[in-house]
Amino acid sequence: MTIRTIIEKALNNAVKLNPQLNSFLSIENEHALAQADTLDAGTDDLSLKGFPIAVKDNICTKGMQTTCGSRILQNYQAHFNATAIEKLNAAGAIVVGKTNMDEFAMGSSNESSAFGPVKNPWDITRVPGGSSGGSAVAVASGVVRAALGSETGGSVRQPASLCGIVGFKPTYGRISRYGLVAFASSLDNIGIFGQTVRDTAGVLGVIAGRDERDSTSANVDVPDYLAEINNEISGKLIGVPHALFGEGLDSEVRASVEQSIENFKNLGAEIVDIELPHAKYGIAVYYIIATAEASSNLARYDGVRYGFRAEETAALREMYFKTREEGFGEEVKRRIMLGTYVLSSGYYDAYYAKAQKVRSLVKQDYEHAFTKCDAIITPTSPSVAFKLGEKSRDPLAMYLNDVYTVSANLAGVPAISVPCGISSEGLPIGLQLTGNFWSENTLLNLASRYEEHFPLGAKPKIFAE
Ligand code: GLN
Repeated sequence: MTIRTIIEKALNNAVKLNPQLNSFLSIENEHALAQADTLDAGTDDLSLKGFPIAVKDNICTKGMQTTCGSRILQNYQAHFNATAIEKLNAAGAIVVGKTNMDEFAMGSSNESSAFGPVKNPWDITRVPGGSSGGSAVAVASGVVRAALGSETGGSVRQPASLCGIVGFKPTYGRISRYGLVAFASSLDNIGIFGQTVRDTAGVLGVIAGRDERDSTSANVDVPDYLAEINNEISGKLIGVPHALFGEGLDSEVRASVEQSIENFKNLGAEIVDIELPHAKYGIAVYYIIATAEASSNLARYDGVRYGFRAEETAALREMYFKTREEGFGEEVKRRIMLGTYVLSSGYYDAYYAKAQKVRSLVKQDYEHAFTKCDAIITPTSPSVAFKLGEKSRDPLAMYLNDVYTVSANLAGVPAISVPCGISSEGLPIGLQLTGNFWSENTLLNLASRYEEHFPLGAKPKIFAE
């Protein structure tokens, strides 16, 4: 089969399913087919040759739009590629489209997108999760085998869990953030969705590594993830933080993750009790630090440098105000205000400085836990996919979705969500494995063995043929 045929199929499926799912904000026929023809004409042996991939619309792609799901960047085209995109292109992967997302990656349901919500292919009356909901659905609905998303507090793992696919967040510094539009720079990562752990690992191997253009990317060797994926896992130590399996956790999700702990035992892993005593402060700390950084990062959208500018304004100051008033949605404005507040001189010590101290304690919890185990198991999300509109008027209820995911971002450690069950309503459930710094290979190995022995065995109602 030619690469053109593979790419045409992905493009056609994207076009066909988008009216129902709204997962793509742009479908890149011209670019993708031109790249396919170039690859078909060449003889190079590339690791991802002709592999169609979808990319969240906050990752810069030359010649394509990058809107961040916001009116303020509507029609904005970056003039450069993110490092991850450059590396994917060089490995032969082809971007077939840019995906829908919560505005500036702020949200857990994809309902804060300026371009309409994404629908969950398992049940289109439900959310796909967020903020990388479009990328999750592009993979879950079978249009592509893998996609890039971004992770600030769980935006790859949570939608992966709600859509029944694999979602991966690397160690902070493992993948260059160059070209990822900043939300909260000390928490942001590029993450990967895959239909399988193998696809996820294949993409990670290509995009991981030090990049001169991102000073926070780390100079740490990148192992051959695919080579280690099938290793035996007997004797691996999996830590269970029992205290986190209590309040607020849906009983079916709890039962499913408890069953998967048994399943890991059957694969030869040893289960150990651990504690993450400060995890309960994760949400509070995250929503202080993330909003503080966002209020600073989003100051650049002023109607002068990028994208949208309000019309009919008399003076510069009015133009700034009106542009931001009209260009940003409700959730983004809420976060800018919260972030500005926690950084203001009278409140800085009480909120921001204190949150930074607790962040250190969250990180120390992990350092301590990883002296006892190789990976930590928890649910990824406290519930299955909820109904569209169910939580969109209640920011706190929405923020609580991130209870299991934010701590890994605060600490900077890697984590992965793997499908582990189906609820009585026929919706997927995900388990989360969190690993020590730079132990992506261990996580992918554990996840891959789990997936091989305990496959989900179900597909969403809407799935591309
Ligand atoms: N749901 C979280 C938030 O709204 C996480 C977002 C993310 O990881 N980008 O901030």
